[in-house]
Parts: sequence; C-alpha cells; structure tokens
Amino acid sequence: MAHHLRQGDIFAVGAQRLQMTESIELTIQSLQAYGPTHEHWGIAWSGGKDSSATLTLLMYLLDSGKIQRPKSLTVFYADTRQELPPLAIAARQIMDELEERGVHVEVVTAPLDKRFMVYILGRGVPPPNNNTLRWCTRQIKIDPMQHALEQRLAELDGNVLMITGVRQGESAIRDKRIEMSCGKDGAECGQGWYQKVLPEAKGLHGRLATLAPLLHWRVCHVWEWLKHWAPEAEFGDWSTATIADAYGGDEAEEINARTGCIGCPLASEEKALETVLQNPAWAYLTPLRGIKAIWRELREPQHRLRKAGIERLKDGSIAANPQRMGPILLESRLMALERVLAIQAECNVAAERLGRPRIDLIAADEEGRIRELIAVGTWPDGWDGDEPVATTPLDKVFADGAVQPLLFA
Ligand code: SF4
Repeated sequence: MAHHLRQGDIFAVGAQRLQMTESIELTIQSLQAYGPTHEHWGIAWSGGKDSSATLTLLMYLLDSGKIQRPKSLTVFYADTRQELPPLAIAARQIMDELEERGVHVEVVTAPLDKRFMVYILGRGVPPPNNNTLRWCTRQIKIDPMQHALEQRLAELDGNVLMITGVRQGESAIRDKRIEMSCGKDGAECGQGWYQKVLPEAKGLHGRLATLAPLLHWRVCHVWEWLKHWAPEAEFGDWSTATIADAYGGDEAEEINARTGCIGCPLASEEKALETVLQNPAWAYLTPLRGIKAIWRELREPQHRLRKAGIERLKDGSIAANPQRMGPILLESRLMALERVLAIQAECNVAAERLGRPRIDLIAADEEGRIRELIAVGTWPDGWDGDEPVATTPLDKVFADGAVQPLLFA
C-alpha cells in the first residue's frame, strides 16, 4: 500500500511538472508572438500572487534567453498603501532583487488626497460597497498606473507592451473574454481593469497594448511557481515563497484566494489575512481583523448625512436617487481615525517586543492630512455638511419628486 502511494505521489509530481512546463511553454509562445513588435515593455505589478508570478517568470524567461529582451523594461509597482503586510514586505525584497539585476522599478502610489484612508477619513467619502468599477480600484490602482505610464511613454519612442497578471484559468482560452469583476474569488483586484482601461488612456492610444501571458494558468500553477520554482537558483532565487504562504502555501492550492487590500469592504471573508494570522510569526497582526468592521460601521446611517428632499442637479434635473445617504460625519471620521491608529499602535507595540516588522496603515503625512481635512470641514462634491444626519426622520420623496409627508412627525 505504502509502495503504491509513493508511486502515486511520484506520478502526481511528474504530471504537475509536465502541466507546469506546458503552461510556461504557452506563456513563452504568447510573449514571442506579441513581444517583438513592441520595443518597450512594462509590467503592472501589485505584489499579489498573479502579478508576482508573472513578473518573476518573465524575469526568468528573459535571463535564461528563452525570450528576447525588449529595448527597455519598466516594472511598475502599484503600492496602494493597503497591502497585507507580509505581501508588502515580500514586494520590498523582490524590488531589491530586481534592482540588483539593474531592472528599473517605479513605485506607483496615488496622490495623498486620493489614497484610501485619506479619501474616506479626510474627505468623508463612504467606503466602497458594490461590484462595479468602484472608486477605490480606479483611484488607488488604475488612475495612478495610467498616470505613471503616460509619463513613461512621454520619455520613450515606439510601442509599449504592458504586461499584466490577469489570469482566468483554462476557460479563458476557450471564451477569449477577460473577466472584469475584481470581487470575484481568485481574481486580483484591478488586474482585469488594467487590461481594459490602460490602452484607453489619454495619449496612450495606439502606442500601448496589453498582454496577459499567464491568462491560461491555473491557480495551483501559480502556487507551484511562487513556492517551489521561483525560489530555486535555477529560476532566479526569488523571495516569492512568502507570497504563497500568505495565502496558505501548499494548502492554498484549493483555496482560490482573492487578492486585495487589508479589510477590503468587498471581500466577504478575509481569507488571506486569516491565513497570515495562523502563522505564529505574523500572529501579532491579529488587531488588523478590526479594520473591516470599521468600514462596515461607517456605512451605517448614524455616521452619515442624507439629502433632505428633492435634489436638483447642475442642469436642473432631479437626482435619480432622492434622499440618498452621503458622506461620513466629521466626528465619525475622527472616531474611525483613532480606531485605525489604535490598531496600528497595538500591532507595532507587539512588533517592537517581538523584533518583528512594524506596519504603517496610516503614515504620519497621511494622518496629518486627514486631521487637516477634518479640521477645515471638508465634504465631497455636492455636499455642504448642513444636510441632516441620515437617521433623521424625513418626509418621503419619490423619484418623480412627489412628497409624502411623515405620518407620525
Ligand atoms: S481590494 Fe477592495 S478596497 Fe482594495 S481597491 Fe480593490 S475593491 Fe477597493
């Protein structure tokens, strides 16, 4: 029995290697088909599993001469400031490894006022809660990437190929359609949108194409590459094992983990965070569990304003959604700020005690800006701050403008 099992294991490992080799072969073919017609390549890298696998595999293929080098290669690291700490730390290491090879890494971050924490806590915009292209994905991922690319393109002549980590498994090859929803399990938030939105950017039109060379990869191949292949000297000695571990390593093979921000209000469960916390070395980050609850709470009516009646838009028409709930109250923003800072402090006290890495959920300049925006009473466009709190009983207003007064005022 034991003998059969061993034989079975060897067979499974062999089959896995064969599938990996086939997947990599297809990746090489796609890069050979589209690469040579573009003089410059960029890669949109978030530090998540799919784009990290794409990046390190690409480097291996270039270094081993399996694909031809472009004239220039720029790695664009999308630093949302919302990354899970072990992923942010792994990204730092990989950046060092890239710099050692002479690869140019550009760190792409949204301007201070547009960052997730500052936009919510400073400006008062509620945390995102739907599945369309939501403000956070656009604002902390897509827009900064577009901007960085526009700047880079201005310095370059010729065509640019932007490589993304979009991955959809085998079905993608069949239906040739890229899934845009980043709320989907297994998807890396933003990657699908990079694929769609980047080529449409101003000034990029016609000069920029996107390619997803891992489109056909299955998630088990991503883990296999990050955990067992990329760390080998033969494939480049990359610090990618931590990334796989953050999602559960070998055991994650069956967990189709979604990649995104800490406390992403759109993820039903924080699988990646929970997996990280099971590792004793990261258990000191347990207070991070509290972040998601803060975002959920801030969406509740007692923390928000509401339009009292019929809202006239700039063109005089009636807003489609009368009495809609709006921004977060100033005092609620302060309350949430203190709570996030307390979570950060709790993690960092433990970090100091244990000699582990500190985290910065809200950096000093971000905190300063949030306090400043609250102090001067900043409200999102279309709101003055004198609207009623959303829990105030109001006459009912219908979409056509008809009013039904409160029955029990
Ligand atoms: S992971 Fe969540 S919070 Fe982060 S950009 Fe995507 S949707 Fe927004």
